[in-house]
Amino acid sequence: MRNCLDILERLRILIGNLVKIMDSEQFRDFAKTIVDYIADYTENIRDKPAVSTVKPGYLYDLVPSEAPVKGEDWKTVFADIEKIIMPGITHWQSPQFHAFFPTGNSYPAIVGDLLSTGIGCVGFSWITSPACTELEVQVMNWFGKMLQIPKEFLNESEGPGGGIIQGSASEATLVCLLVAKDRMTKHLKAINPQLDDGEIKSKLIAYTSDQSNSSVEKSGLLGSMHMRLLGTDDQGRLTGPILLKSIEEDRKKGLIPCFVVATLGTTGTCSFDCIEDLGPICNENNIWLHIDAAYAGAAFILPEYRYLMAGIQYADSFDVNLHKWLLVNFDCSALWVKNTNHLVNAFNVERMYLNHSYQSQNPQIPDYRHWQIPLGRRFRALKVWFVMRLYGVEGLQAHIRKQIELAELFGRLVEQDRRFEIVTPVTMGLVCFRLKGDNIWTKRLYESLMKSGKIYLVTASVRSQLVIRFVVCSRLTEERDVKFAWNEVSSLADTITSTEEYKESDNIKYLTHG
Ligand code: PLP
Repeated sequence: MRNCLDILERLRILIGNLVKIMDSEQFRDFAKTIVDYIADYTENIRDKPAVSTVKPGYLYDLVPSEAPVKGEDWKTVFADIEKIIMPGITHWQSPQFHAFFPTGNSYPAIVGDLLSTGIGCVGFSWITSPACTELEVQVMNWFGKMLQIPKEFLNESEGPGGGIIQGSASEATLVCLLVAKDRMTKHLKAINPQLDDGEIKSKLIAYTSDQSNSSVEKSGLLGSMHMRLLGTDDQGRLTGPILLKSIEEDRKKGLIPCFVVATLGTTGTCSFDCIEDLGPICNENNIWLHIDAAYAGAAFILPEYRYLMAGIQYADSFDVNLHKWLLVNFDCSALWVKNTNHLVNAFNVERMYLNHSYQSQNPQIPDYRHWQIPLGRRFRALKVWFVMRLYGVEGLQAHIRKQIELAELFGRLVEQDRRFEIVTPVTMGLVCFRLKGDNIWTKRLYESLMKSGKIYLVTASVRSQLVIRFVVCSRLTEERDVKFAWNEVSSLADTITSTEEYKESDNIKYLTHG
C-alpha cells in the first residue's frame, strides 16, 4: 500500500512536470505566432478602416466578467484577437489615419520593445542593468547631436547637462515643472531662510500659451502651480511682450513667476513660439524655460528646419518625442536638462536597498531614478538604438522629408478647390483647412467624414474658425493615400455644397466664380 502511494505521488509529480513543459512550449508557440501576426497586421493595414465603428461597451458582451479558472489553449486565445480585439481598434498606423500627430511605429522599434520586454530588466539605477543606463546615455547623445542642440545639454559634455528617455512629453513637462518649483523654493529660502516653503510654493506661477498642448495645463494641475494660458499673436505664437507684461502684472500681485513652457510646433496649428525673445526674459527673471517640441522637434534632424529652434540655448530643458515622428513606438520621449543636479536635488530619496557602490552625480553614469517620477523604468533605449542603426540618420531624414512633401501635396489639392481655404500655412506634416464661410459647413463636412470612417481626422479652432486638421501620420502613407483622403473630403463636400441651403447661403460665390 505504502509503495502504491509512493508510485502515485511520483506519477503526480511527473505529470505535473510534463504539463509544465507543455505549458511553456505552448506559450512559446503563442509568442512565435504573435510575431508573425504583427507582420501580417502591418502588411494588410491599408485594407482596414481607419476608425473603429464599435459602440461603447461592445467588449463587455464578448469577454466574461471573471478570469478563467483553468488556463486555456493558446489557439482559442489567438482566435479571439481577430474576433474581440480588432473590431475595437482604431488603426493608428493605417495610411488613412490623419488625426492628432503621428505615433511612431517600425519593425526595428517593435522588436526593440519585444527584446526589452523579453529581457525584462528594470533599470532604475546603473547597477540594475548597466547596459540599460549606458545605452540610454549614448542614444540620447546621438539624438542630441542629430538635432544639433547645444552641447551643454548632452551627458557627454563637461558640465551637469544630460538626457533621459521619459515615457511621454506630458511626463517631461511635469518633471520640469516640479524641478522648477523646487529650484525656485530653495533659491528664495537661500536668500531669506525665514520664508516658509508652503507660502513660497503657493505664490509660484507658470506661463504657457493658449495654444500649448493640454498636457501643459495638466502639469500645472498635477504640480499645484497655477498655469496662466497667455494669448498669442496672429500666427499663434507666444511672444516676448505678452510674457513680459504678464510677469510684471503678477509680480505686482505678489506672485512669483517660476516656469514657462514654450512650444515648438503646437498641436492645433503647428506654430512656433518666439523662443529667441522668451528665452532672455526667462533667464533674466530666473524662470525655468521648458521647450515642448514633442512633434515638430523631430524635423530638426534636417538642417533646413533648424532655424526654427533658434534661441534653444536659453532653455533649461528641451523635449522631443521619438515616439511621434521618428518611427519609435510609444512610449519614448527624449528630455534634456541643462543642469541635471536640479533633478537629483529635487527627487533624491535614499533607501539602503537602492544603494550601490558606483553611485555618483556624474551624468555619464546616472541613476536615472532621480530624473523621473516612477522608480521603475523600461529598457527603452533598445528600440531607439535599433531604429537609429537600421534607418541611419539619412533614413530618418528621408522619412521626415517625405511626410512633409505629402502634406504639401494635400495642401495643393485643397488650394485647387475654391470651396475650401487653408487657414494657417501648411507646416511640417499638418494642413489646417476648412470649407469657406460659416463654421456650420465645416462642422457638417467633419461629421460626414467621421460617419463614413474611411479616414480619420480631428478638428481645431483657429481664431474662432473651425478647421479640420489633416496630418500625414503613418510611415506607410503614400501619394495614393493622400489622394484617397482628398477624394473622400471633396466628394463628401459635394454632398454638402449641392444642398439648397448651401446654395442659398453666401457661399454660392465659391461654387460659381473662377
Ligand atoms: N506637446 C505637444 C506639442 C503635443 O502635440 C503632444 C501630443 O500630441 C504632447 C505634448 C503630449 O505628448 P505625450 O502623449 O507624449 O505626452
